[in-house]
Amino acid sequence: MVIIDNNYCKGCFLCMHYCPKKIIDKSTNINGKGYAVPYIANPEECSNCKTCELICPELAITVEEGDN
Ligand code: SF4
Ligand code: SF4
Repeated sequence: MVIIDNNYCKGCFLCMHYCPKKIIDKSTNINGKGYAVPYIANPEECSNCKTCELICPELAITVEEGDN
């Protein structure tokens, strides 16, 4: 399960570019800092690889074990 804390996101989309499954996409939601934030478009395809968690410079992503 991928949890994105929108409050920390700066809209760089490194997570989207580096996700090996290409399941992260841009949402239409804008956070309090004025940035468009990502969302997991196909959570059932997530492999819990944690690449997004490791690549996020703002530590906005947490990947937990368990169902997506
Ligand atoms: S890598 Fe982090 S800061 Fe950048 S868009 Fe993704 S969640 Fe937001
Ligand atoms: S844990 Fe891996 S597969 Fe799942 S969204 Fe993050 S980078 Fe993509």
